[in-house]
Amino acid sequence: MTLYRARTIDTPEDPFSGGGLRCEEDGGLLVQDGVVVERGTFADLRRRHPGADLVELPDGVLLPGLVDTHVHFPQVRVIGALGMPLLEWLERCALPEESRLAEAEYARAVAAEFVAALLGAGTTTALVFGSHFAPAVDALFEAAATSGLRITSGLVVGDRMLRPDLHTSAQRGYDEGHALAARWHGVGRSRYAVIPRFALSCSDDLLASCGQLHRDLPDSWFTSHLNENLDEVATVRQLFGGGTYLDCYDRHGLVGPRSVLAHDVHPTDKELKRMAEAGASVAHCPTSNAALGSGLFPLNRHLAYGVPVALGCDVGAGTGFSLFKEGLQAYLLQQLRGRDGTALTAAHLLHLATAAGAQALGLRDQVGDLSAGRRFDAIWVRPRPGTPLHIGMRHANSPEEALAKVFALATSHDVVQVWADGVPRTQPAERVL
Ligand SMILES: [Zn+2]
Repeated sequence: MTLYRARTIDTPEDPFSGGGLRCEEDGGLLVQDGVVVERGTFADLRRRHPGADLVELPDGVLLPGLVDTHVHFPQVRVIGALGMPLLEWLERCALPEESRLAEAEYARAVAAEFVAALLGAGTTTALVFGSHFAPAVDALFEAAATSGLRITSGLVVGDRMLRPDLHTSAQRGYDEGHALAARWHGVGRSRYAVIPRFALSCSDDLLASCGQLHRDLPDSWFTSHLNENLDEVATVRQLFGGGTYLDCYDRHGLVGPRSVLAHDVHPTDKELKRMAEAGASVAHCPTSNAALGSGLFPLNRHLAYGVPVALGCDVGAGTGFSLFKEGLQAYLLQQLRGRDGTALTAAHLLHLATAAGAQALGLRDQVGDLSAGRRFDAIWVRPRPGTPLHIGMRHANSPEEALAKVFALATSHDVVQVWADGVPRTQPAERVL
């Protein structure tokens, strides 16, 4: 047994429905076999468990491991291409790089970089857009399994309007996906997700095969893009004729409680109503939305309809792997929406970056906060002395203030240790971002 002593902050109760921050200034977490078995004040736990190994985490704050619900594995090397809208960015920047993952050695190198970058940013659980190439998806699952990352991912499929070398067929997509799932679905911390790239690049036959694969793989997940950019939405409507963007997926049984749709910047009321009924979640990627000029996410409408929302960094259209930066950008975008904006507090941001993501991925019973019974997935944010974050946290008057400073000022460099299942997963040299 190990007793961790730290200032801990988490959000066991949803701040969007009356919950708030839970903070233990001098807290104790007793961890056994990767699970938090008791929590409380350090003094109480130390008295009752004098023989437990002690790990002291002075300064800073211990938070739950962050949960990223939308991030593209093949795009780690193309972050930062500014100045293009979605469809141009895909053609000029993202898709040429995605093609390079056909080469197994290249894919393995990118997988190692990708997993290290996620963990370095404090992300311990992620729903990951895989590659169009099955061996590259194997490389991703292998790297994730070795690293300790809790991952849900799969083969990305498309059969039109990409580059020809990225196209597949309905049968091939099904067969390769099924074979990957046989190797990885439910193995350790890995699970399989069915992933059509987006309706624009998928024929109805291909989406039908995705629906079949989703049904044939018990407890598999579904993820794709939805309503990201107005030109994209108009083209999807032309291609499919009538109906909503969501209908393209829904008619094949792909919209349910194990579905996560990325972006949804331009939803119709009908789509929001349907997603709420189905229990499908939305991955909000605010830096990507801003970088590509996709629009200002209508969080108020999602909340009004009861559509669950969590955060994603979207790399490479985003600006990096840090969910602190995504949280800050989510806050800024809502401020810019004026009267239609949703005022977000630090508690909301932490919730969106942790428990909400765990909920969207059906992992809320395992991760998302630091309650007794959860896996010990945690990050220690400890700013270097003299930095604005260090100064700000030292002079914060409340846990809420201290956490707001983390979202405003922290980078991946301030995440000095990451645990998944109770095991330390990072060393400073591994933190590449
Ligand atoms: Zn994306």
